[in-house]
Amino acid sequence: MRTPVGSALTPSPSSSSPYLFSHSLSPSRLRYAVLGAGFAGLSVAYHLLKQCPKDSNLRIDVFDGVGIGGGASGVSGGLLHPYSPKAKLLWRAAECWDEALRLLNVAEAAVPPNSDDAPIVRRRGILRPALSMKNMMVLKDNAQNGLASCRIETIDEDGAQNLVPGICSPFNTSFYMPEAVNVHPQRYLDALFLACQTLVKELCASGLGVKELHLHKDSIHKLLDLEGEYQAVIVCLGAKADLLPELSGRLPLRTCRGVVAHLQLPDNMGGEYPGFGPSILSDAWLAVQGPRSLYMGSTWEWKSRNSSSNVSADEATEALKELLPKACSIYPVVKDWTFIGAKAGLRAMPPLTPHGSLPLLGCVNNIIGQNQTCKYWLFGGLGSRGLLYHGWLGKLMAQAVLSCNEELIPYELTSWKRTKQ
Ligand SMILES: Cc1cc2nc3c(=O)[nH]c(=O)nc-3n(C[C@H](O)[C@H](O)[C@H](O)COP(=O)(O)OP(=O)(O)OC[C@H]3O[C@@H](n4cnc5c(N)ncnc54)[C@H](O)[C@@H]3O)c2cc1C
Repeated sequence: MRTPVGSALTPSPSSSSPYLFSHSLSPSRLRYAVLGAGFAGLSVAYHLLKQCPKDSNLRIDVFDGVGIGGGASGVSGGLLHPYSPKAKLLWRAAECWDEALRLLNVAEAAVPPNSDDAPIVRRRGILRPALSMKNMMVLKDNAQNGLASCRIETIDEDGAQNLVPGICSPFNTSFYMPEAVNVHPQRYLDALFLACQTLVKELCASGLGVKELHLHKDSIHKLLDLEGEYQAVIVCLGAKADLLPELSGRLPLRTCRGVVAHLQLPDNMGGEYPGFGPSILSDAWLAVQGPRSLYMGSTWEWKSRNSSSNVSADEATEALKELLPKACSIYPVVKDWTFIGAKAGLRAMPPLTPHGSLPLLGCVNNIIGQNQTCKYWLFGGLGSRGLLYHGWLGKLMAQAVLSCNEELIPYELTSWKRTKQ
């Protein structure tokens, strides 16, 4: 058994279960296990700490077989805005947008000032050029109903050129979201975990109750291995949630692998990306990291079960063949940038509902189908919008877990349980 990473507690050597610790479950001591350290898991861990009774003794164990950002979150493009590709506001967009930004701020504040680290969030907006006449009309229509806190401005070719010299807007119209942001996913997740640790210290310093947070680099193979140790287990395993035997074949999720290519402007070339330039959304997106570095994505390989972040030479070649022409049709100079590597991730895609494709939340004890003392919860199916959904839904999930009340979660997110699979 591995020792928890950064933990003060050591597991009991006499444990019969691989995850048993020396403390027994007692009502005065809250113990929660969060499975997965991606956007979903770390948001839940943060909100459990933030919302637990101040005088409680609380221990949270976060398990991730790979480590922080080991799944789709760590490789995501990091593009964050509250709209569909047709510029329609997504379900409960205002709440999701506000809470996602709030959590980004929390993570940024956790990093020591004057740290030389590269930024976690790039606040330069996102630009979407219209790709057809029809596309332009639909986007123009929908753009009028945007959020005040994340506006969509319709700009012409000159306006687009002022933002990104060299960009093509084939229909002389682009849609600019000045408040949209681009997150560096791994830096963000590391900082969010740091924010959780800082919160633990602050809560302990108040002297009202002991709080603990432990990260274990361990894979969980069976939910029932955790039975008896926790009041609640929250499954935040992304596309791998249905590999757990208790959930296998019972979640309405499809999987989709995506490759992201890292490109750099060669040292001997001018034409840096402008410091104020937004990231670009098109048939391929360009998530700008700095004047000479950007990520280009992403491919859509449906039904893949390959969750490895490693990309073979063949897979990289295929991805570049697919992505480069799309990116060049909007930003032609990107052909001069050098490919320096690729990574990939598996998205967990939820079914389409009348409200759009919504994540799957809720208590899953009825699915597991045995008499458990522990409550098992699912927070999954974040699809390709993990950043938008993780903040608000992580907060709702924590409230539901702490009060043992699923009704705190909007019915749109739990209704999948009432649909026959
Ligand atoms: C190529 C690509 C680009 C994307 N771009 C964007 C984007 O620009 N904006 C956006 O909002 N979203 C984007 N997404 C979607 C986003 O990444 C996902 O919605 C989000 O990461 C899902 O988060 P999660 O925490 O549910 O899952 P994950 O991030 O997959 O986290 C699950 C974690 O569980 C761990 N794990 C799995 N099984 C076990 C086990 N048995 N035991 C222990 N640990 C386990 C994994 O190691 C992983 O760290 C993109 C996705 C991909 C693949």
